[in-house]
This record gives sequence, C-alpha cells and structure tokens, in this order.
Amino acid sequence: MATYTVKLLAKQPVAQGTMAFHLEKPAGFEFRAGQAFEVILPGGAEGEDGSHAFSIVSAPHEAELVFATRMRDSKFKRALGALEPGSSLQIDGPFGSLTLHKKAERAGVLIAGGIGITPFMSMLRSAAEQRSDRSLALLYSNRRPEDAAFLVELQALAQRNPHIRLVATMTDMAHSSQAWDGATGYIDRDFVQRAIAGLTAPIFYVAGPPTLVEAMRSTLVDAGVDEDDVRSEEFFGY
Ligand SMILES: Cc1cc2nc3c(=O)[nH]c(=O)nc-3n(C[C@H](O)[C@H](O)[C@H](O)COP(=O)(O)OP(=O)(O)OC[C@H]3O[C@@H](n4cnc5c(N)ncnc54)[C@H](O)[C@@H]3O)c2cc1C
Repeated sequence: MATYTVKLLAKQPVAQGTMAFHLEKPAGFEFRAGQAFEVILPGGAEGEDGSHAFSIVSAPHEAELVFATRMRDSKFKRALGALEPGSSLQIDGPFGSLTLHKKAERAGVLIAGGIGITPFMSMLRSAAEQRSDRSLALLYSNRRPEDAAFLVELQALAQRNPHIRLVATMTDMAHSSQAWDGATGYIDRDFVQRAIAGLTAPIFYVAGPPTLVEAMRSTLVDAGVDEDDVRSEEFFGY
C-alpha cells in the first residue's frame, strides 16, 4: 500500500443519489479486481470524516481509477460532492482480499445489495475484457431501477458474454416510476437456488451494507453452502 496524490478527472451520476468519481491512475498503481482504496480528501486526515474506504469500480486494465458512492448527507460526502474536476486528493491503497478465486472451473456467484455492486463491476469488466470462460453469475438487488447503479452496462455485458449471467431484482417497485419486467422480491434461498442452477461448484461473494451481508451469509449457509465458500466485504458506514 502507498499514498498517492491524484486529480479528480470527472464525476457523474450512475443512479439516483449515487455518483461515480473518475481519478487519475498513478504510474505503478496495480490492483486486483475487487480490491479497495482509502480516499483522503484535501485537508482531511485519516479517520472517519477525512477519509473513507471505497471499492475500485474500474477494472485493472482500464486507464482511470473509478469509485462510486451514495451521496448521503454526511460531512465526508458533502466535501466529496463539492470537489470539482481538477481538484487533487489522496488515495491510499490498494488493499482487500475480496478477489476472485483462481480455480476457473469453479463458478463465481456475486451477490450485491445496492452500492455493494462496486467491487463486482471491476471483476465483471475484467472477465469480459479477458474473454474469460469462467462462469460468473451476478445477483443484484436494489429497491428500484432508478437506484441500480451500472444496470444498463451490466445488462449489455451479460448479453454479450455467454459466461456472465445477470439476475437483477427490485424490492420496491411500488415506488418506482420506471418499467421493470425482471425479477422482484428479496434474494432468499429459493432465489439463489434458481439463479445458480447449472453452475459448477460455485464460490460465493457478497458485498454491501453490513446487515445485508450478514443476512446473505446466513441465507447461503441455510441453503447448504459451505461457509468456506462464502467471501464478503462489509461496507461499514451504511
Ligand atoms: C473495504 C470497504 C469498501 C467500501 N466500498 C464502498 C463503496 O464502493 N461505495 C460506498 O459508497 N461505500 C463503500 N464503503 C463504505 C464507505 O467507506 C463509507 O463508510 C460509506 O460510504 C458511508 O459513508 P458516509 O459518509 O455516508 O457515512 P458516515 O457519516 O461516514 O458514517 C455513517 C455512520 O457509520 C459509522 N461508520 C463509518 N465508518 C465506520 C466503520 N468503519 N466502522 C463502523 N462504523 C462506521 C459512523 O460512525 C456513522 O455513524 C466501503 C467500506 C469498506 C470497509
């Protein structure tokens, strides 16, 4: 891990209330898809209000570093939101062990709740770029399509790649102004079993708010999944 000063290149909305931030990629900054870094704001110090950890959305082969977050009304997010392209900030990293297993004959099942999609974007973009024949299934839960970051990109990616399966579900369509003809309801045991049908000896990855990750872990274990085959990243702070 090292600390780098980088420029903010661009910021853009990727869903309602969710922004992606595009940063310069420092020379020599190498990471594995799924890893994270600490973002330290100008004038901010390590610690709750001055820095936050974020999973890297962009894939290792991509030219920029991208992270995405829900723009809540916190001291850190207000300061982050006020940054304009051209501003400098610091990143510390990479770190983290939420990276894909080596044995490609075993499928990967990625379970994301809301903003937990971020590390999986890097994995899926990377797999697509490498034309990997490893089977990857993404189970992606959001309240409404409006809240689902990167949904259109993920739908196109799954359409183009026979080894990538996307099962997206919405849990609150009653409050949506968008059409949705996909799955609805929470990711429970039956949902998982249907979504992973035909996959070989899957290993599971779960990311998102701690309560979701905990609930998903027990759902998987209840469904008979060996706890050793479940890896997770808890986004403390949500
Ligand atoms: C490895 C990792 C990867 C992450 N990736 C992402 C990502 O890709 N996108 C994203 O939006 N968020 C990610 N997070 C969470 C992120 O770091 C922030 O905590 C989150 O975005 C909430 O920030 P906030 O400013 O809205 O809330 P804050 O105001 O900072 O926090 C809200 C509440 O959570 C508490 N809290 C904050 N941090 C912690 C902590 N570490 N442990 C316990 N309580 C805490 C605070 O005390 C406060 O009460 C990640 C976290 C980790 C550890």
